Formats: sequence, structure tokens, C-alpha cells
Amino acid sequence: NAALERAQSLIRTIPDYPEAGVLFRDITPLLADAAAHRAVIDSMIEPFAGEFDVVAGVEARGFLLAGAIAVAANVGLVPIRKAGKLPRPAAAVSYTLEYGTATIEAHDDMKPGARVLLVDDVLATGGTLVAAHELVSKLGGTVVATSVLMELEALGGRAVVGDVHSVFTA
Ligand code: 5GP
Repeated sequence: NAALERAQSLIRTIPDYPEAGVLFRDITPLLADAAAHRAVIDSMIEPFAGEFDVVAGVEARGFLLAGAIAVAANVGLVPIRKAGKLPRPAAAVSYTLEYGTATIEAHDDMKPGARVLLVDDVLATGGTLVAAHELVSKLGGTVVATSVLMELEALGGRAVVGDVHSVFTA
């Protein structure tokens, strides 16, 4: 698929960001390209088309992908935010990041038993997506699939998150 190959070539690798020793995958050049952007959104949805009622995206880059997926798949969107941003959080989960620690929260805007596609830009150690799974469960939803743009295989996230669909691996 030429559009996907082009999309992969548009992921920029930045050494020592946000701190020394981290090789950061920057997806902004990919997002800036219409055809590449469209191709990755389609690819994140394709294996699960018709199987989910809601997309839940993790702040902040997960929001960008989740918004496009919600419109393309004609489903609702529930944002998973960093702590302290939502006026009425219904649930919270704390976790350890590749760099630092964090807490995520969400509003109770999911119908009980909602079938949820969980989305983020990058799977690294998996801590974020494990926490997001737990948060969706607390909200009464069921994660039917997890989709990421890029999986950093060496960090072992797949072993803790379980089944993840990744458009690209590095
Ligand atoms: P994890 O919890 O799997 O260790 O880290 C994943 C989270 O950190 C995701 O929310 C992702 O946005 C962010 N992240 C970690 N490494 C990278 C990276 O190299 N590039 C980007 N864009 N995000 C990263």
C-alpha cells in the first residue's frame, strides 16, 4: 500500500526527546499530509469495522487520531484525559509512563456495555493503554479492540496490553 508506505516515511525520529536516551517518534509530519493521514486512520479502523460503538482516545496525540476515527466510523468519542482537566471525572486510574507517572480520567459518557475501540498514537511500555483499559472498565464499557499508529516493539508493550493492532512497528 503506497499511501501507508509514504505515511511511515513521514514519522520523524527525534533523539533525546523529551529527555536524554528517549528516541521520540513524531507523527506530526504524517498528520500534515492528507493522504498519509487518511491511510493510517483507515488502517486503524479496518480490522474492527462495525465492531465498536465508541472510540476512546488518550490525551493528547490519541485525541487527534480518535477524532478522525469517530467521524470516519460514525461512532461517538470519549476523551481520556490527564488528571485535572475534566469538570466531572467519573473514574481515574494512575500508572507509570516510559518517562514519569500520570493519572488519567474520563467522564461517564459511555453507555453501559458500550463496545469501545481504544486508541493512542504510540504503544511503548504499555502502561498508558493498560490504565486506559482499566478506566474504560470502570466506566462500564468493554474494550473490543486496541489500535495504535505505531508500536515500539523493543519496549514490550504488547506483552502487558495483550492484543493490539498497530499500523506500524519500529
Ligand atoms: P507507554 O505508556 O506505552 O509507555 O507510552 C505510551 C504513551 O506515551 C502514549 O500516550 C504516547 O503518546 C507516549 N509516547 C511514548 N513514547 C512515544 C514516542 O516515541 N512518540 C510519541 N509520539 N509518543 C510516545
